[in-house]
Amino acid sequence: MASSPRRSAGPPRQVDTDERPLVLIWELTQACELTCEHCRADAQPDRHPDELTTAAAERLLEDVREFGEGQLVVFSGGDPLKRDDAVHLVEYGTDLGLNVTMTPSGTTSLTPDAVADLADAGLRRMALSLDGATAERHDAFRGEAGSFADTMRAAQAARDEGVPLQVNTTVCRRTVPDLPEIADLVADLGAVLWSVFFLVPVGRGAALDPLSPHRAERVMEWLVDRSDEWPFGVKTTEAPHYRRVAVQRADEPPGRQMGITAGDGFAFVSHVGDVYPSGFLPESAGNVREESVVELYRNSALFESLRDPDRLNGKCGACPYRTMCGGSRSRAYAATGDPLGSDPLCSFVPEKYDGPLPWGEESAGD
Ligand code: SF4
Repeated sequence: MASSPRRSAGPPRQVDTDERPLVLIWELTQACELTCEHCRADAQPDRHPDELTTAAAERLLEDVREFGEGQLVVFSGGDPLKRDDAVHLVEYGTDLGLNVTMTPSGTTSLTPDAVADLADAGLRRMALSLDGATAERHDAFRGEAGSFADTMRAAQAARDEGVPLQVNTTVCRRTVPDLPEIADLVADLGAVLWSVFFLVPVGRGAALDPLSPHRAERVMEWLVDRSDEWPFGVKTTEAPHYRRVAVQRADEPPGRQMGITAGDGFAFVSHVGDVYPSGFLPESAGNVREESVVELYRNSALFESLRDPDRLNGKCGACPYRTMCGGSRSRAYAATGDPLGSDPLCSFVPEKYDGPLPWGEESAGD
C-alpha cells in the first residue's frame, strides 16, 4: 500500500500541507570537506560570507515554530557541522519545540564526541549517506578516502547515543549495482529508514548518468517487493511514482492520498535564506531575511501552484495517479524549465495522453 510507512515515498499525511510542510530542510552552509560527485549544493571548502548569522538563524527557527509544535526541520548542507554554532542551533530549535534532525557529512569531524554533543542538544535523528557498499566504492563516489570508515564510526556513535539513524543513498547508473549490498548494510547498522534518492541532474550531479525510466521502474519494483522483508522503512526522494508502482504491484486503483513533493509538504531554505520548493528546484519564492518562511510556504504563487495537481502539464497532468504521485517537480524543472511539466524519469504513459513523451522518439531505456 502506498500509505504504508514501508512503501511510502514520504511520511503519511497527518497535517494539512497547505498550512505546513511535513519536512523543512535548512541548508546551514554549503561548506564541506567532501567533493561528492552528485552534490546538489556544489559544496565548497569554505563558508559563504552571506550565510545566515547565528541571530538570523535563531529568528528563522522562531519563524519555523509558527508552523506548529513538533515541526520537523532537517539541518542539511554542505556539512552543517562546518558551522561552529550547529550544536547550539540544534538545542535552540529543540527548546522551541521543533523536531530537529541532521544530515552531517561523513568526515573526520564527525567524531563520537561530536555525535554525543548533538545527542545532548536534542537531535532526533541523524541521516548519513552511503553511496557504495564498500569503502572503495563509497569513497570514490564521495571524493574522499576514509569517508566510509568515518561514516561507519558515526553510525555506531549514533547507535551508542540512542539517536535513530537514517541512511541516504543516491541512485544512478553507477550506484545501482550496489543497492542490494547497501540494503544489507542498512540492516546491519540498525537504521530505522533507508532514503533512496533518485538523482536529479543539478549541481555536480548533472555530470552523472541518471537511470533510464525503465530501469528506474525496475528498481522501484524491487524496493516495493523487498520492503516488507527489511527491518527498516523505505522512502524514495524525488521519485514519488514509487507510490504509483506500489499500488500497481498490489493491483489497487489510484488512491487520493498524496505524499510530499516539492512545495507540497516540503520546503527548503538555502544557506543565504532563499526559500525554494526543494533543494533541487532552484526557483525562489523569497528570502527569510525579508519575509516569514511561513508566509512564503503558505501563500506564494509558486508554492500554491505546486500544491494543485490539476495544474500539472504534459503526461503528469493527464495521469490518473497525479493526486497520489504528481511526479518529481524538481526533475521536471531540470528537464523542461517548467516546474509543472512531466517527470522524465517515469515510464508510465496514461491511457488518455497522446502528447510527446519525455524520451522523444527513443525507447524509455533498458
Ligand atoms: S505520469 Fe507523472 S503523475 Fe503519473 S505516475 Fe508518472 S510521474 Fe506520477
